[in-house]
Amino acid sequence: MSTSLADTRSAEWYRRALEVLPGGVNSPVRAMRAIGRSPIFIDRGEGAELIDVDGNRFLDYVCSWGPLIHGHAHPQVLDAVAAAAAKGTSFGAPTPAEVELAVEVTRRIEGVDMLRMTSSGTEATMTAVRLARAVTGRERILKFAGAYHGHLDGLLAEAGSGLATQALPASPGVPASAAAGTVVIPWNDPEALIAATDGHELAAILAEPLPANMGLVLPQEGFLELLRERADTCGALLVLDEVISGFRVSRGGAQELTGVRGDLTIMGKVLGGGLPAAAVGGRSELMRLLAPAGDVYQAGTLSGNPLAVAAGLATLALLDEPAYLRLSSITEQLASGLREAAGGYPVQVASVPGLLTVFFSDRPIADFDDARACDLVAYAAWCRELHSRGVYIPPSQFEAWFPSLAHTPEHLERTIVAAAASFAGLP
Ligand SMILES: *Cc1c(COP(=O)(O)O)cnc(C)c1O
Repeated sequence: MSTSLADTRSAEWYRRALEVLPGGVNSPVRAMRAIGRSPIFIDRGEGAELIDVDGNRFLDYVCSWGPLIHGHAHPQVLDAVAAAAAKGTSFGAPTPAEVELAVEVTRRIEGVDMLRMTSSGTEATMTAVRLARAVTGRERILKFAGAYHGHLDGLLAEAGSGLATQALPASPGVPASAAAGTVVIPWNDPEALIAATDGHELAAILAEPLPANMGLVLPQEGFLELLRERADTCGALLVLDEVISGFRVSRGGAQELTGVRGDLTIMGKVLGGGLPAAAVGGRSELMRLLAPAGDVYQAGTLSGNPLAVAAGLATLALLDEPAYLRLSSITEQLASGLREAAGGYPVQVASVPGLLTVFFSDRPIADFDDARACDLVAYAAWCRELHSRGVYIPPSQFEAWFPSLAHTPEHLERTIVAAAASFAGLP
């Protein structure tokens, strides 16, 4: 990266993008404002590597924010998409492959007997909330500060991720009535959870079982079990958002890993293997309330799209037990290497198989307030250093790293060396 940022092709594309796309991007975090640099425009991906429009190569730990668990342009995924595309890209009518994908999902996730596919996680969450309200006849929903469930009005309050990156509590344009239907409490706070569910009429408790949109903040001992118990006590559905954790942290997602089951499960990201696919699933008696089996309306022109379904099927076919063991060991190696690389620098490295976050904090992170109290300036400086050394990590303290099965021991070693040099370069 010899040329200065100002005269790169990325900079030129960014100037052009700013004219026609708000902020130059189609999703805020891509603008890299939180780390005080301009965005990197991508030409292509190869396995664990990204190649930008200037020809710079980066080891990619963002991997499209989760879908690319096999890395970029995996030949089996590409072949499946090409074969599907050759037969036509969309029919607006049922296809065998979407049934096959649904069967594969029901085999993996206990308690998901049926699913409805959508094109984005946001839509799947919308459907889950509508279903929960229809089932319970109640309106209010409970979510946790720092949890992200997509950009629907009612769930943008303290939604972590992109909003946190821009230091916004919520968004203008969200009607007060939509926000009023949402109760927000801190993650890992049993007393707040009991108070918010005691005698209150809730349609749903929404949670990321392994929250990864304020950085990765693991549930404390017993907290997920308490979620299940409180949902049952107050008659609310427990909606577990596994858009990130699903098919990533284990074959059956966070629910298999932790043993705590939701009434509805939201899936996305890995499910579409890099093409737009997401879903909401649950027991048949709940799912059959959706139209046309039931009268809860939900629809989508491109839902169950043949290309996305083909990518999802090929992605899941490659995710057998050995793959999960390998992803677990890749993540563990990376996490322990990063801890060592920090030397004496005060960071907390949180990890589960397939996910990790390096928090710039001298104490463990239990909730969104802890995450927001991190040294964001130091994180930004470290992140820029890593980018300049060819390691593409999330340009925000509030996002997780997504190691993939394409990351080799040599890639990990190079990452850890670059991380150590980047820590050493911090003031
Ligand atoms: C990404 C994400 C979503 C939203 O999915 P989109 O496809 O971006 O709409 C929902 N929940 C979680 C936990 C996510 O990480």
